[in-house]
Amino acid sequence: MFDELSARFEDAVKGLRGENKISEDNVDIALKQVRRALLEADVSLSVVKQFVQEVRDKAIGAEVVRGVNPGQKFIEVVHQELVEVMGGANSPLADSTKKPSVILMAGLQGAGKTTAAAKLGLYLKDKGLKPLMVAADVYRPAAIDQLNTLGKQINVEVFSLGKESKPEDIAASGLKKAQEEDFDTLIVDTAGRLQIDEEMMNEMVRIRSAVDPDEVLLVVDSMIGQEAADLTRAFHEKVGITGAVLTKLDGDSRGGAALSIRKVSGQPIKFIGTGEKVEALQPFHPERMAGRILG
Ligand code: GDP
Repeated sequence: MFDELSARFEDAVKGLRGENKISEDNVDIALKQVRRALLEADVSLSVVKQFVQEVRDKAIGAEVVRGVNPGQKFIEVVHQELVEVMGGANSPLADSTKKPSVILMAGLQGAGKTTAAAKLGLYLKDKGLKPLMVAADVYRPAAIDQLNTLGKQINVEVFSLGKESKPEDIAASGLKKAQEEDFDTLIVDTAGRLQIDEEMMNEMVRIRSAVDPDEVLLVVDSMIGQEAADLTRAFHEKVGITGAVLTKLDGDSRGGAALSIRKVSGQPIKFIGTGEKVEALQPFHPERMAGRILG
């Protein structure tokens, strides 16, 4: 395990060789490599700084077992810390006692919200639940049609009131329908903007008040890299998120956004999107993402 990582850090950890402890003197060069690796993986700079400091504190004084290469031990410490920071294990969806439970999708336009809403619809349906999807994105041309098309594809009902109604009214009416018709989960797709925008945040807050969600999932395109930190901070401060969905991990992004999102909000990444198809949703596993980030 970690052979590839060891190779990457080979030079950096030379100074650790022959030592039986990782000490202050020999750890700094290795930490520089960690810093570089994280920045290359598009983790936000402020998050990298914080993380490196934490690893430094943990690594110094870590005992190296005889026969174990100290470089390898160091990488283990880094890897373990990444896993811990990202939540240790997978976090499932909130266990709600309400019926229906409500999931609110948030995020910028193009992040993959509508797609993720349908992916979650299918995921819940496969668990034997009856979800209702609500099209509350009244701004993006064709967003309602897109959700309708996806709904047909996965055989999950979609509620909409067209483009003339207010998003919070659409969401509230969707909730009423779900209550009356015995749906288990309400998934509310909302409008994004191209960038963080006051109006979008206010609208999210109004929708949140209308449906009192169990989950507010921030959908983040993993390709936005470093910007994930500011984006998450803005949404978390204004709307309050309970988790995230990191999309487009089928691309070549190294997934550093996962670390930033978690560090900035303290909330877990719950799912990852790995393709355009409705089946391409997986529970997030910190262990796997740590490996991907370290490369
Ligand atoms: P929204 O504006 O946030 O609702 O974004 P959409 O759901 O419309 O997605 C924007 C684009 O990203 C669409 O072309 C989707 O097919 C694509 N997309 C969404 N999720 C993924 C993913 O996990 N992987 C890939 N490759 N494409 C995705």
